[in-house]
Amino acid sequence: MSDEEITDAERKMQFLYALRSKGVRDTNVLTAMEKVDRGAFITGTFADRAYEDMPLPIACGQTISQPSVVALMTQALDVQPRDKVLEVGTGSGYQAAILSHLARRVYSIDRHARLTRPVRALFEKLDITNVTIMTGDGSRGLPEQAPFDRIIVTAAAEDPPGPLLAQLRMGGIMVVPVGQSDAVQSLIKVTRGEEGFEYEELLPVRFVPLLEGVAQD
Ligand code: SAH
Repeated sequence: MSDEEITDAERKMQFLYALRSKGVRDTNVLTAMEKVDRGAFITGTFADRAYEDMPLPIACGQTISQPSVVALMTQALDVQPRDKVLEVGTGSGYQAAILSHLARRVYSIDRHARLTRPVRALFEKLDITNVTIMTGDGSRGLPEQAPFDRIIVTAAAEDPPGPLLAQLRMGGIMVVPVGQSDAVQSLIKVTRGEEGFEYEELLPVRFVPLLEGVAQD
């Protein structure tokens, strides 16, 4: 084994160790995280920090989330192999790539065409074929593909958006950061049951805001 290979293996172990130490226990999630090279989703000055457990800037003033937060959100989402999943906030495409290994079908939507275009090209290169990347206002959901088994929102809303709640199937789960954009927010898990929606507060997080409308890139 060359020195470089040892370094790669060690880096991967450290990356997974950081996730486990933050409470990520689900082996399906850990395996999916191991399969996706975060380095492929970050270009430019910050590329060499891809394996550190921190959020990093991407284009359009947005951020790729911290890996441990991606892992905890994915774990809370409890994705099943037959699931159809909606992600609101494609960003770098990292979260969508992880979901592609856990779900049957993923729809990911972002309001910036300047973000969705390169992600589409990257997924083609990575041979990820079960994810559809769309440009649009994800706060309205994707009525033509509803209902969804799982919905994950990766931008902070003041309240869980009504259209998204309506597009969650009975028994479905939605994970969404809720709170003011310039303050610490709470990650909320919403479960839709026969009796209505159940809300569980998971952990404090900090996300960019969920904005209305499509961006003029
Ligand atoms: N999940 C991403 C990180 C998302 S950052 C990743 O893995 O890299 C939050 C993203 O939400 C940004 O790209 C922002 O453009 C997008 N966003 C904000 N409001 C939106 C809306 N109404 N509809 C769709 N995307 C939105």
